[in-house]
Amino acid sequence: MATLTISAADEKRVKALGFLSNKGTDNFSGRIITVNGKITAAQQKCIAEAAEKFGNGIVTFTTRLTIEVQGIPYDKIEDFRQFIAKEGLETGGTGSLVRPVVSCKGTTCQYGLLDSFALSEEIHERFYKGYHSVKLPHKFKIAVGGCPNNCVKPDLNDLGIIGQMIPNFDEDECNGCKKCSVAAACPMKAAKMVDGILEIDKSICNNCGRCVGKCHFDALEDGTPGFKIYIGGRWGKKTAHGRALSKIFTDKEEALNVIEKAILLFREQGKTGERFAATIERLGFENVEAQLLADDLLERKQQILDAELHMTGGATC
Ligand code: SF4
Ligand code: SF4
Ligand code: SF4
Repeated sequence: MATLTISAADEKRVKALGFLSNKGTDNFSGRIITVNGKITAAQQKCIAEAAEKFGNGIVTFTTRLTIEVQGIPYDKIEDFRQFIAKEGLETGGTGSLVRPVVSCKGTTCQYGLLDSFALSEEIHERFYKGYHSVKLPHKFKIAVGGCPNNCVKPDLNDLGIIGQMIPNFDEDECNGCKKCSVAAACPMKAAKMVDGILEIDKSICNNCGRCVGKCHFDALEDGTPGFKIYIGGRWGKKTAHGRALSKIFTDKEEALNVIEKAILLFREQGKTGERFAATIERLGFENVEAQLLADDLLERKQQILDAELHMTGGATC
């Protein structure tokens, strides 16, 4: 085995920049942030070139939509960073911070209820970049899903946001057809005929919007777009399913503010080393939800950011 010459302090320093030691070697994998898994052809070419020029020619994809170039020698790290910066790319994505955002392809997907690439880019700018210097008790992962099909598993993230289409059913326009095309279109079996009239069981309906426009008699012409937010999911050594906030948000700014409040709450009330799921369990979901729906956390934003907290967080990767 090669003699290792990089000190633990240097290894830690470059890890914070997104360079992870390739075990048993003096080389590193450079983790490139793709914002939301969408990169241009020019960026792809640049990464391929950088892999040949500075690394071992191998490019790998991580489960959270970042790209790692393997085999970069320690003394080539700065050159590598400068090279990819030409195409607006940067490394990072480690530490007890807001982590790179994961998004599904809701923008182009036939089921997409929101522009997931645009929303995840906005979240990236505001919270991945905007909170990059803000230390948290542990890592904080955010995922954006275009619809309740949950392809990127938003409910297994510290915070997940999902596109919604709340069906606007007008009972007065319902003729009680023998065969209801709305009920037939509902994959959740939430829309059913009850006593000769259509009924949507709100406890089953997941606001997928598949029924919108399916009634031939104008009883369900449109829906209201919205956002559902899950908090406290995690996947790893320990697992937890996130729980949805009771409110469906129809205003994007309000939904983004809830994300900001969740990060501030985690910073202020989380114990160093615990994931958001554990913070929520300790404080109680109802307490956390009430805080996320109120204004107090944002009003105290500067005070929360200025506090000396979590100088060493719990994230190990
Ligand atoms: S979650 Fe929905 S919108 Fe996103 S990729 Fe899956 S089916 Fe498409
Ligand atoms: S919702 Fe439309 S299709 Fe379904 S029973 Fe009523 S009128 Fe008929
Ligand atoms: S929004 Fe989806 S789950 Fe709800 S009633 Fe319509 S089709 Fe069914």
